[in-house]
Amino acid sequence: MDLQTGDALIIADVQNDFLPGGALGVPRGDEVVPALNRYAAAFDARGLPIFTSRDWHPPDHCSFRERGGIWPVHCVAGTKGAEFHPDFQPTPSATVISKATDPKKEAYSAFEGTDLDKYLREAGVRRLFIGGLATDYCVLNTVRDALARGYAVCLLEDGVRAVNLRPDDGRKAEDEMIRLGAVPIRLESLAL
Ligand SMILES: [Zn+2]
Repeated sequence: MDLQTGDALIIADVQNDFLPGGALGVPRGDEVVPALNRYAAAFDARGLPIFTSRDWHPPDHCSFRERGGIWPVHCVAGTKGAEFHPDFQPTPSATVISKATDPKKEAYSAFEGTDLDKYLREAGVRRLFIGGLATDYCVLNTVRDALARGYAVCLLEDGVRAVNLRPDDGRKAEDEMIRLGAVPIRLESLAL
């Protein structure tokens, strides 16, 4: 598979709080960082656009347990936990998409309440390569939204990890994305 004009890379939420040791650490989440860096380098070398999403919550966000949500406090805007992992180095030209910034709204998808779709259309993007954290939340919802908006989607199988609140959540999420039309790929699938 060759990368071509019209392709873009979207990497979800590689933030300290979602990595082992963080407030909402995804088991083995750190393992995806080297692969995601290689995907990013491939897109960058071809001048293709890269988007990195981040959870960017106010301190009183509705997803936090103390506000009636299901998660511990995580990724509060401007904190260390909300920063991208230090080893995650997509490229300085990557566009950062901040989401779930409204205290009253949860947003797992990078499309939800953001300008991502507008940026993609302006850039003439038709096919999205999507990876990051976590398979069963932000990746799943971003892929669903991308397919619903008519983009072709490749799922980076070696660039995702799941929270797995229930043990099968990650596998079920991958099955659903593929059933909806996402094409699973790995680094070795690309002609790099
Ligand atoms: Zn969140």
